[in-house]
Amino acid sequence: MIDPFGRPITYLRVSVTDRCDFRCVYCMAEDMTFLPKSDVLTLEELDRLCTAFVRKGVRKLRLTGGEPLVRRDIMTLFDALGRHLKTGDLDELTLTSNGSQLARYADHLVRAGVRRVNVSVDTLDPDKFARITRWGRLDQVMEGLRAAKEAGLRVKINTVALRGVNDDEAFELIRWCGEQGFDLTFIETMPLGEVDVARVDNYMPLSLLKAQIGQRYTVRESDHVTGGPARYVTLAETGQRLGFITPLTHNFCESCNRVRVTCTGMLYMCLGQEDSADLRAALRADRDDTALDAAIDEAIGRKPKGHDFVIDRRHRKPAVSRHMSVTGG
Ligand code: SAM
Ligand code: SF4
Repeated sequence: MIDPFGRPITYLRVSVTDRCDFRCVYCMAEDMTFLPKSDVLTLEELDRLCTAFVRKGVRKLRLTGGEPLVRRDIMTLFDALGRHLKTGDLDELTLTSNGSQLARYADHLVRAGVRRVNVSVDTLDPDKFARITRWGRLDQVMEGLRAAKEAGLRVKINTVALRGVNDDEAFELIRWCGEQGFDLTFIETMPLGEVDVARVDNYMPLSLLKAQIGQRYTVRESDHVTGGPARYVTLAETGQRLGFITPLTHNFCESCNRVRVTCTGMLYMCLGQEDSADLRAALRADRDDTALDAAIDEAIGRKPKGHDFVIDRRHRKPAVSRHMSVTGG
């Protein structure tokens, strides 16, 4: 799959559920209304959909959500998709998780062929963690991380930078990740979806965080690239690699290699644009994937050149109305 701007599409992120056992303040309102089950793709449909993308050249699959590990029987999907790793058609099967269910599933994930997991941890302070996630418990996530490590999974921690909330914890997080052997990526808040908190109040440009880190460490720009919005640096003193995801302040679109599918089968060609394609209708149109293949090809032909995120300071409205839990992180 090559899009109109010559970019090969090799990375698919799939949200397997919009539900979650946490209610992070920047991601969801506390009283979220979730989709009716009949709108959500079955595990079998998700397998058909991912397999179609693999057939078309996707080499990396990331399952996300909502919280992917709260979907019932989700391991059957991991097991099914693992077959593409065995045939060599897929290089990587991975997931982004809040870590709450990792203690239960880490071993099974490894058996399915998963080697790496991204886990979101915004703070190491249990009270602050409870405030940010509303329903989450830090000790449960820590137990999940221990299990992941023991199972042999490589872990990358994702931390959303929130001004006045966790901007005093950067060094502690860097130290902890160094100690645990985890990679660490900071994420700037993105204006996605309506949430209760005025997002501009917590907006923290990562340039500030980087400058803060530069006062203690020698920060070297790294040429590590993933085709995504992350830019990497290395800390000379420890050799640690840090990622920064800055969609609002940097343009990463020219190297974009990815598309996203929601749990209802909507394909979004760009995280920051509303244009989409309904793959559920195509999946349910026939059993032999003819309609699905055609719908994917047509949609890739519409992948836009770039996004236009902006936090609207006057109206405090998100630039894109769907939540991150819909398209996945
Ligand atoms: N539940 C899983 C988790 O928390 O990792 C996977 C889904 S979550 C939507 C994926 C990532 O998106 C998380 O790292 C989360 O912190 C991040 N995220 C959610 N809402 C965001 C927002 N408005 N701006 C920036 N990152 C956000
Ligand atoms: Fe759930 Fe992840 Fe959103 Fe937090 S960021 S509410 S864990 S989906």
